[in-house]
Amino acid sequence: MYDYLIVGSGLYGAICAHELKKKGYSCLVLEKRNHIGGNIYTENIEGINVHKYGAHIFHTSNERVWEYINQFAKFNNYINQPVARYKNEIYNLPFNMNTFTKLWPDVFTPSEAKAKIEAERKDCYKENPENLEEQAINLVGKTIYEKLIKGYTAKQWGMKCTELPSFIIKRLPVRFTFDNNYFNDFYQGIPMGGYTKIIEAMLEGIEVRLNTDYLADRDSYNALAKHIIYTGQIDAYYDYQFGPLEYRTVRFETEVLDTNNYQGNAVVNYTEYEVPFTRIIEHKHFEFDTTSPKTIISREYSTKWTKGDEPYYPVNNEANNNLYLKYKELADKETKIHFGGRLGEYKYYDMDKVVLSALDYLETLK
Ligand code: FAD
Ligand code: UDP
Repeated sequence: MYDYLIVGSGLYGAICAHELKKKGYSCLVLEKRNHIGGNIYTENIEGINVHKYGAHIFHTSNERVWEYINQFAKFNNYINQPVARYKNEIYNLPFNMNTFTKLWPDVFTPSEAKAKIEAERKDCYKENPENLEEQAINLVGKTIYEKLIKGYTAKQWGMKCTELPSFIIKRLPVRFTFDNNYFNDFYQGIPMGGYTKIIEAMLEGIEVRLNTDYLADRDSYNALAKHIIYTGQIDAYYDYQFGPLEYRTVRFETEVLDTNNYQGNAVVNYTEYEVPFTRIIEHKHFEFDTTSPKTIISREYSTKWTKGDEPYYPVNNEANNNLYLKYKELADKETKIHFGGRLGEYKYYDMDKVVLSALDYLETLK
């Protein structure tokens, strides 16, 4: 008999296991994949730490979170500065003076950029933008929307910008400085040696059963522990009784190439709709690797999720959030099981939010 059964060895599950063990509780972690780490798993291939489930950059403004994660790894000083390729044009992201001056050859100063954006949005400015398209045009005007947002977003989410919530685009900074940092957070970096090392450190001394799907035999697993922390899909836990929540899945096409530098940057977004992938990740650049003779790239194809696929992104639009509330109502009545993490809480959480959510939950335990 264990004190805690933890379903999922991703960041949320691993933090819970680590902290509960520290408090003297016995824990068993079940993981349906053949490795630990969930979506932050990295694998060393040809000396390069490959982000197997997409580019992961740790960023936060929360000191508690930054201190917490730094116990488990040293972080390098990587700053994410993706570039966008639209047809045969290259622009800096996020939207900043480098983007504006390249896009509009008569723009040189912040006030000229603001005037240009103002002119582009004045006929369609919405006081309260109701969808991603309205929000995007409000923020950056029509040209940037058409070249850098519309196609990329449609590929990423499989929906038109008019059908998506505005908060998604508010993740990206818009700056009137020449600053290509994709994030506004105080702290940012990549763990040296890869993310898997963090999870390994968290799970040290804890029993983990890989290739084990809790839902396939939940009654026997429930009998093993007093409490359960479940970080899988909440709708799957309840057998999709109100219908499935929506997710996006991603197909990663990874290649080892015989060149030492394929694209000169870790992340290049392909923003036109006609290119079927959303972005290409060149993993070695996360760690400033200039010596290995080979490189590894991953093309990301975002597709509709159906049961059995990996549910990478919750689609937090109004319909899904309402459906989630029905599942949450059931979850709130449970006494033995707690639902946490990106899938358990059905939230488009970055890693720092997952850390915070886990730490907050752990504080509620005696
Ligand atoms: P997960 O990592 O999904 O872990 C859940 C685990 O539970 C998985 O290992 C799963 O296999 C297991 N599981 C599920 N069901 C069962 C079951 N029935 N039985 C046993 N095991 C089960 N965040 C950032 O901060 N920066 C980024 O740059 C960033 N980039 C991202 C890029 C992509 C493509 C994606 C998909 C996400 C990105 N994120 C990023 C978000 C980040 O991945 C998540 O915040 C974090 O990994 C969530 O951790 P988790 O433990 O909640 O979930
Ligand atoms: N986005 C865009 N063009 C880009 C990059 C992002 O339109 O080149 C939009 C898109 O809608 C995306 C959102 O901004 O879903 C958030 O981007 P982010 O990079 O934060 O997404 P994630 O890292 O979660 O894939």
